[in-house]
Amino acid sequence: MLLYGGKSAEHEVSILSAFSILQAISYNFYEVQLVFIAKDGRWYKGPLLTEKPVDDSVMQLADGQEIAPCAIKSENTIVFPVLHGPNGEDGTIQGFLETLDMPYVGGGVLASACGMDKIMTKHLLQVAGIPQVPYVPVIRNVWRENPKQIFEQCEGSLIYPMFVKPANMGSSVGISKVENREELQNGLLEAFRYDQRVIVEQGIDAREIEVAILGNEDVRTTFAGEIVKEEAFYDYNAKYVDNTIKMQIPAEIPEEVQTKARDYAKRAYMILDGAGLSRCDFFLTHKNELFLNELNTMPGFTEFSMYPLLWENMGIQYNDLVEEIIQLGLNRYNQRK
Ligand code: ATP
Ligand code: MG
Ligand code: MG
Ligand code: MG
Repeated sequence: MLLYGGKSAEHEVSILSAFSILQAISYNFYEVQLVFIAKDGRWYKGPLLTEKPVDDSVMQLADGQEIAPCAIKSENTIVFPVLHGPNGEDGTIQGFLETLDMPYVGGGVLASACGMDKIMTKHLLQVAGIPQVPYVPVIRNVWRENPKQIFEQCEGSLIYPMFVKPANMGSSVGISKVENREELQNGLLEAFRYDQRVIVEQGIDAREIEVAILGNEDVRTTFAGEIVKEEAFYDYNAKYVDNTIKMQIPAEIPEEVQTKARDYAKRAYMILDGAGLSRCDFFLTHKNELFLNELNTMPGFTEFSMYPLLWENMGIQYNDLVEEIIQLGLNRYNQRK
Protein backbone atom coordinates (compact mmCIF):
# COMPACT_ATOMS: atom_id res chain seq x y z
CA MET A 1 0.00 0.00 0.00
CA LEU A 2 1.46 3.28 -1.10
CA LEU A 3 0.61 6.16 1.21
CA TYR A 4 1.46 9.46 -0.43
CA GLY A 5 0.70 13.18 -0.61
CA GLY A 6 0.49 14.24 2.99
CA LYS A 7 -0.52 17.17 5.13
CA SER A 8 2.83 18.83 4.66
CA ALA A 9 4.61 21.61 2.81
CA GLU A 10 6.46 18.78 1.02
CA HIS A 11 3.23 17.35 -0.38
CA GLU A 12 4.21 17.80 -4.03
CA VAL A 13 7.59 16.17 -3.54
CA SER A 14 5.84 13.12 -2.09
CA ILE A 15 3.63 12.81 -5.18
CA LEU A 16 6.70 12.78 -7.40
CA SER A 17 8.42 10.14 -5.26
CA ALA A 18 5.23 8.05 -5.18
CA PHE A 19 4.94 8.05 -8.92
CA SER A 20 8.42 6.55 -9.36
CA ILE A 21 7.95 4.01 -6.57
CA LEU A 22 4.63 2.91 -8.03
CA GLN A 23 6.32 1.98 -11.29
CA ALA A 24 8.87 -0.09 -9.39
CA ILE A 25 6.34 -1.87 -7.18
CA SER A 26 4.14 -2.74 -10.11
CA TYR A 27 7.19 -4.02 -11.93
CA ASN A 28 7.97 -6.17 -8.90
CA PHE A 29 4.51 -7.77 -9.19
CA TYR A 30 2.94 -6.43 -6.03
CA GLU A 31 -0.73 -5.73 -5.96
CA VAL A 32 -0.73 -2.05 -5.12
CA GLN A 33 -3.30 -0.07 -3.21
CA LEU A 34 -2.93 3.69 -3.32
CA VAL A 35 -3.95 5.91 -0.47
CA PHE A 36 -3.68 9.62 -0.97
CA ILE A 37 -3.53 12.13 1.88
CA ALA A 38 -4.70 15.55 0.72
CA LYS A 39 -3.05 18.73 1.91
CA ASP A 40 -5.94 19.31 4.29
CA GLY A 41 -5.20 15.95 5.91
CA ARG A 42 -8.13 13.98 4.48
CA TRP A 43 -7.49 10.45 3.28
CA TYR A 44 -8.66 9.03 -0.05
CA LYS A 45 -8.62 5.55 -1.51
CA GLY A 46 -6.96 5.65 -4.90
CA PRO A 47 -6.81 7.56 -7.14
CA LEU A 48 -4.54 5.68 -9.47
CA LEU A 49 -1.49 7.50 -10.65
CA THR A 50 -1.67 6.67 -14.31
CA GLU A 51 0.54 9.45 -15.53
CA LYS A 52 3.17 11.61 -13.98
CA PRO A 53 1.27 14.13 -11.89
CA VAL A 54 2.11 17.77 -12.34
CA ASP A 55 0.24 19.03 -9.35
CA ASP A 56 -2.44 18.25 -6.86
CA SER A 57 -5.29 19.00 -9.25
CA VAL A 58 -4.61 15.70 -10.97
CA MET A 59 -5.43 13.96 -7.73
CA GLN A 60 -8.52 15.97 -7.02
CA LEU A 61 -9.94 15.25 -10.44
CA ALA A 62 -9.53 11.52 -10.15
CA ASP A 63 -12.40 9.73 -8.44
CA GLY A 64 -10.75 9.06 -5.10
CA GLN A 65 -13.13 7.99 -2.39
CA GLU A 66 -12.66 9.51 1.05
CA ILE A 67 -11.90 7.01 3.79
CA ALA A 68 -11.31 7.07 7.52
CA PRO A 69 -7.55 6.61 8.11
CA CYS A 70 -8.11 3.41 10.12
CA ALA A 71 -9.95 1.92 7.11
CA ILE A 72 -6.56 1.14 5.59
CA LYS A 73 -6.14 -1.73 8.05
CA SER A 74 -5.83 -4.94 6.08
CA GLU A 75 -4.01 -8.24 6.44
CA ASN A 76 -0.91 -9.21 4.50
CA THR A 77 -0.25 -5.63 3.52
CA ILE A 78 2.85 -3.56 4.04
CA VAL A 79 2.50 0.21 3.97
CA PHE A 80 5.04 2.35 2.14
CA PRO A 81 4.60 5.81 3.65
CA VAL A 82 6.32 7.85 0.99
CA LEU A 83 5.59 11.02 2.91
CA HIS A 84 8.08 13.82 3.43
CA GLY A 85 8.05 16.37 6.23
CA PRO A 86 5.71 16.80 9.21
CA ASN A 87 2.68 14.50 9.53
CA GLY A 88 4.42 11.76 7.64
CA GLU A 89 8.18 11.62 8.12
CA ASP A 90 8.07 12.68 11.75
CA GLY A 91 6.80 9.59 13.56
CA THR A 92 3.10 10.45 13.58
CA ILE A 93 2.14 8.15 10.70
CA GLN A 94 4.60 5.57 11.98
CA GLY A 95 2.88 5.60 15.39
CA PHE A 96 -0.49 5.30 13.71
CA LEU A 97 0.70 2.27 11.71
CA GLU A 98 2.12 0.71 14.86
CA THR A 99 -1.27 1.12 16.50
CA LEU A 100 -2.95 -0.51 13.51
CA ASP A 101 -0.36 -3.27 13.79
CA MET A 102 0.63 -2.99 10.15
CA PRO A 103 4.19 -3.44 8.83
CA TYR A 104 5.64 -0.39 7.09
CA VAL A 105 8.70 0.75 5.21
CA GLY A 106 11.37 2.92 6.84
CA GLY A 107 12.23 4.19 10.28
CA GLY A 108 9.99 3.72 13.31
CA VAL A 109 8.52 6.35 15.63
CA LEU A 110 11.76 7.24 17.38
CA ALA A 111 13.98 7.52 14.31
CA SER A 112 11.36 9.46 12.37
CA ALA A 113 10.67 11.93 15.16
CA CYS A 114 14.34 12.48 16.02
CA GLY A 115 15.45 12.69 12.38
CA MET A 116 12.76 15.20 11.52
CA ASP A 117 13.47 17.51 14.43
CA LYS A 118 16.72 19.32 13.71
CA ILE A 119 17.15 20.39 17.34
CA MET A 120 16.75 16.85 18.62
CA THR A 121 19.09 15.50 15.95
CA LYS A 122 21.77 17.99 17.04
CA HIS A 123 21.41 17.04 20.70
CA LEU A 124 21.87 13.37 19.85
CA LEU A 125 24.82 14.00 17.55
CA GLN A 126 26.45 16.07 20.25
CA VAL A 127 26.22 13.18 22.70
CA ALA A 128 27.69 10.89 20.05
CA GLY A 129 30.57 13.28 19.42
CA ILE A 130 29.80 13.66 15.72
CA PRO A 131 30.95 17.07 14.43
CA GLN A 132 28.29 19.58 13.43
CA VAL A 133 28.09 23.32 12.87
CA PRO A 134 27.39 25.55 15.90
CA TYR A 135 23.72 26.37 16.43
CA VAL A 136 21.19 28.06 18.68
CA PRO A 137 17.78 26.47 19.25
CA VAL A 138 14.92 28.99 19.47
CA ILE A 139 11.50 28.21 20.93
CA ARG A 140 8.68 30.51 19.81
CA ASN A 141 7.40 31.43 23.27
CA VAL A 142 10.86 32.36 24.43
CA TRP A 143 11.36 34.47 21.31
CA ARG A 144 8.07 36.28 21.84
CA GLU A 145 8.90 37.05 25.45
CA ASN A 146 12.39 38.31 24.81
CA PRO A 147 13.54 38.72 21.20
CA LYS A 148 16.53 40.80 22.24
CA GLN A 149 17.88 37.93 24.30
CA ILE A 150 17.60 35.63 21.27
CA PHE A 151 19.43 38.11 19.04
CA GLU A 152 22.20 38.40 21.60
CA GLN A 153 22.43 34.67 22.01
CA CYS A 154 22.72 34.14 18.24
CA GLU A 155 25.17 36.97 17.72
CA GLY A 156 27.15 35.93 20.79
CA SER A 157 27.84 32.42 19.58
CA LEU A 158 27.48 32.63 15.77
CA ILE A 159 28.62 35.03 13.09
CA TYR A 160 26.74 36.14 9.99
CA PRO A 161 25.74 34.68 7.64
CA MET A 162 23.50 32.32 9.61
CA PHE A 163 20.86 29.86 8.44
CA VAL A 164 17.44 29.96 10.07
CA LYS A 165 15.35 26.81 9.76
CA PRO A 166 12.09 25.40 11.09
CA ALA A 167 13.12 22.43 13.25
CA ASN A 168 10.60 20.12 11.61
CA MET A 169 10.61 20.48 7.85
CA GLY A 170 12.48 19.46 4.75
CA SER A 171 13.08 20.37 1.10
CA SER A 172 14.49 23.69 2.35
CA VAL A 173 10.97 24.97 3.08
CA GLY A 174 11.01 27.93 5.48
CA ILE A 175 14.83 28.22 5.45
CA SER A 176 16.61 31.58 5.06
CA LYS A 177 20.20 32.65 4.87
CA VAL A 178 20.57 35.83 6.91
CA GLU A 179 23.30 38.47 6.88
CA ASN A 180 22.28 40.87 9.66
CA ARG A 181 19.92 41.35 12.59
CA GLU A 182 17.01 42.57 10.51
CA GLU A 183 17.25 39.55 8.23
CA LEU A 184 17.62 37.31 11.25
CA GLN A 185 14.35 38.67 12.60
CA ASN A 186 12.60 38.10 9.26
CA GLY A 187 14.12 34.66 8.96
CA LEU A 188 12.84 33.73 12.42
CA LEU A 189 9.34 34.97 11.59
CA GLU A 190 9.37 32.99 8.35
CA ALA A 191 10.55 29.80 10.07
CA PHE A 192 7.95 30.22 12.85
CA ARG A 193 5.26 30.01 10.17
CA TYR A 194 6.09 26.31 9.91
CA ASP A 195 7.11 25.30 13.40
CA GLN A 196 7.29 26.62 16.93
CA ARG A 197 10.76 25.17 17.19
CA VAL A 198 13.43 26.84 15.09
CA ILE A 199 17.15 26.45 14.75
CA VAL A 200 19.68 29.15 13.88
CA GLU A 201 22.89 27.68 12.48
CA GLN A 202 26.31 28.97 11.68
CA GLY A 203 26.37 29.48 7.90
CA ILE A 204 29.40 27.92 6.31
CA ASP A 205 30.92 28.03 2.89
CA ALA A 206 31.16 24.35 2.13
CA ARG A 207 30.61 21.60 -0.37
CA GLU A 208 27.59 19.40 0.25
CA ILE A 209 27.93 15.66 0.23
CA GLU A 210 25.36 12.98 1.00
CA VAL A 211 25.54 9.31 1.96
CA ALA A 212 22.71 6.83 1.50
CA ILE A 213 22.00 4.27 4.21
CA LEU A 214 20.12 0.99 3.97
CA GLY A 215 19.38 -1.66 6.58
CA ASN A 216 17.96 -2.54 9.98
CA GLU A 217 20.52 -4.13 12.30
CA ASP A 218 22.90 -4.74 9.44
CA VAL A 219 23.59 -1.20 8.21
CA ARG A 220 25.06 -0.53 4.77
CA THR A 221 26.20 2.82 3.40
CA THR A 222 27.09 4.10 -0.06
CA PHE A 223 30.00 6.15 -1.28
CA ALA A 224 29.15 9.82 -0.86
CA GLY A 225 27.72 11.86 -3.70
CA GLU A 226 28.10 15.61 -4.06
CA ILE A 227 25.50 18.22 -4.80
CA VAL A 228 27.28 20.64 -7.05
CA LYS A 229 25.71 24.00 -6.32
CA GLU A 230 25.36 26.95 -8.56
CA GLU A 231 22.91 28.62 -6.21
CA ALA A 232 23.86 30.31 -2.95
CA PHE A 233 22.12 27.43 -1.26
CA TYR A 234 20.19 24.38 -2.16
CA ASP A 235 16.69 25.86 -1.85
CA TYR A 236 13.27 24.50 -2.78
CA ASN A 237 13.32 26.03 -6.24
CA ALA A 238 16.71 24.61 -7.05
CA LYS A 239 15.56 21.22 -5.81
CA TYR A 240 12.19 20.87 -7.48
CA VAL A 241 11.29 23.80 -9.71
CA ASP A 242 14.33 24.82 -11.72
CA ASN A 243 16.11 21.48 -11.45
CA THR A 244 19.41 23.31 -11.34
CA ILE A 245 21.02 20.71 -9.13
CA LYS A 246 23.89 18.70 -10.49
CA MET A 247 24.99 15.57 -8.75
CA GLN A 248 28.46 14.14 -8.80
CA ILE A 249 28.41 10.45 -7.91
CA PRO A 250 30.67 9.40 -6.38
CA ALA A 251 31.91 12.69 -4.94
CA GLU A 252 35.48 13.58 -5.75
CA ILE A 253 36.80 13.70 -2.22
CA PRO A 254 39.81 12.23 -0.43
CA GLU A 255 39.45 8.63 0.60
CA GLU A 256 39.72 9.41 4.31
CA VAL A 257 36.84 11.90 4.04
CA GLN A 258 34.81 9.27 2.23
CA THR A 259 35.45 6.76 5.00
CA LYS A 260 34.72 9.28 7.72
CA ALA A 261 31.43 10.37 6.11
CA ARG A 262 30.26 6.77 5.87
CA ASP A 263 31.26 6.10 9.45
CA TYR A 264 29.45 9.20 10.80
CA ALA A 265 26.38 8.39 8.71
CA LYS A 266 26.21 4.89 10.10
CA ARG A 267 26.78 6.00 13.67
CA ALA A 268 24.13 8.71 13.42
CA TYR A 269 21.68 6.21 11.93
CA MET A 270 22.26 3.77 14.76
CA ILE A 271 21.94 6.42 17.47
CA LEU A 272 18.65 7.61 16.02
CA ASP A 273 17.42 4.00 15.78
CA GLY A 274 17.26 4.21 11.98
CA ALA A 275 15.59 1.39 10.08
CA GLY A 276 15.02 0.73 6.40
CA LEU A 277 16.59 3.75 4.81
CA SER A 278 17.95 7.27 5.35
CA ARG A 279 20.00 9.87 3.55
CA CYS A 280 22.66 11.59 5.59
CA ASP A 281 23.65 15.13 4.53
CA PHE A 282 27.04 16.68 5.30
CA PHE A 283 28.96 19.90 4.81
CA LEU A 284 32.57 19.57 3.71
CA THR A 285 34.68 22.70 4.06
CA HIS A 286 37.51 23.55 1.73
CA LYS A 287 39.90 22.44 4.46
CA ASN A 288 38.19 19.04 4.35
CA GLU A 289 36.46 19.43 7.70
CA LEU A 290 33.31 17.38 7.77
CA PHE A 291 30.09 18.39 9.61
CA LEU A 292 27.01 16.24 9.75
CA ASN A 293 23.96 18.34 8.84
CA GLU A 294 20.99 15.99 9.09
CA LEU A 295 19.49 12.57 8.60
CA ASN A 296 16.44 12.34 6.32
CA THR A 297 14.48 9.23 7.19
CA MET A 298 12.32 9.35 4.06
CA PRO A 299 14.53 10.99 1.44
CA GLY A 300 13.31 12.11 -1.98
CA PHE A 301 12.70 8.94 -3.95
CA THR A 302 12.16 9.73 -7.61
CA GLU A 303 14.41 7.90 -10.07
CA PHE A 304 16.46 11.08 -10.29
CA SER A 305 16.82 11.63 -6.56
CA MET A 306 20.15 11.39 -4.80
CA TYR A 307 19.16 8.43 -2.60
CA PRO A 308 18.43 5.89 -5.35
CA LEU A 309 21.23 7.24 -7.53
CA LEU A 310 23.74 6.66 -4.73
CA TRP A 311 22.63 3.02 -4.55
CA GLU A 312 22.71 2.66 -8.30
CA ASN A 313 26.36 3.65 -8.11
CA MET A 314 26.84 0.75 -5.67
CA GLY A 315 25.20 -1.64 -8.14
CA ILE A 316 21.63 -1.70 -6.83
CA GLN A 317 19.04 -0.70 -9.41
CA TYR A 318 15.95 1.31 -8.51
CA ASN A 319 13.46 -1.58 -8.65
CA ASP A 320 15.68 -3.83 -6.56
CA LEU A 321 16.22 -1.05 -4.06
CA VAL A 322 12.47 -0.63 -3.59
CA GLU A 323 12.18 -4.38 -3.10
CA GLU A 324 14.97 -4.36 -0.50
CA ILE A 325 13.42 -1.65 1.61
CA ILE A 326 10.04 -3.41 1.49
CA GLN A 327 11.72 -6.60 2.73
CA LEU A 328 13.47 -4.62 5.48
CA GLY A 329 10.09 -3.28 6.59
CA LEU A 330 8.64 -6.80 6.72
CA ASN A 331 11.67 -8.15 8.59
CA ARG A 332 11.49 -5.42 11.17
CA TYR A 333 7.80 -6.09 11.76
CA ASN A 334 8.28 -9.85 12.03
CA GLN A 335 11.24 -9.55 14.38
CA ARG A 336 9.30 -7.32 16.75
CA LYS A 337 6.38 -9.71 16.96
P1 ATP B 1 16.30 18.33 2.81
O1 ATP B 1 15.58 17.50 3.82
O2 ATP B 1 15.56 18.47 1.52
O3 ATP B 1 17.73 17.92 2.59
P2 ATP B 1 16.08 20.49 4.75
O4 ATP B 1 14.90 21.39 4.58
O5 ATP B 1 16.02 19.47 5.81
O6 ATP B 1 16.41 19.83 3.36
P3 ATP B 1 18.85 21.37 5.16
O7 ATP B 1 19.34 20.21 4.40
O8 ATP B 1 19.26 21.48 6.58
O9 ATP B 1 17.26 21.50 5.05
O10 ATP B 1 19.27 22.73 4.44
C1 ATP B 1 18.90 22.97 3.10
C2 ATP B 1 20.05 23.58 2.34
O11 ATP B 1 20.38 24.88 2.88
C3 ATP B 1 21.33 22.78 2.42
O12 ATP B 1 21.35 21.74 1.49
C4 ATP B 1 22.36 23.88 2.15
O13 ATP B 1 22.42 24.20 0.76
C5 ATP B 1 21.79 25.07 2.87
N1 ATP B 1 22.28 25.16 4.26
C6 ATP B 1 21.62 24.70 5.34
N2 ATP B 1 22.30 24.93 6.47
C7 ATP B 1 23.44 25.54 6.12
C8 ATP B 1 24.57 26.05 6.84
N3 ATP B 1 24.64 25.96 8.18
N4 ATP B 1 25.58 26.63 6.13
C9 ATP B 1 25.51 26.70 4.78
N5 ATP B 1 24.48 26.25 4.04
C10 ATP B 1 23.44 25.68 4.69
MG1 MG C 1 16.10 17.41 5.72
MG1 MG D 1 13.77 15.90 3.99
MG1 MG E 1 19.35 18.38 3.70
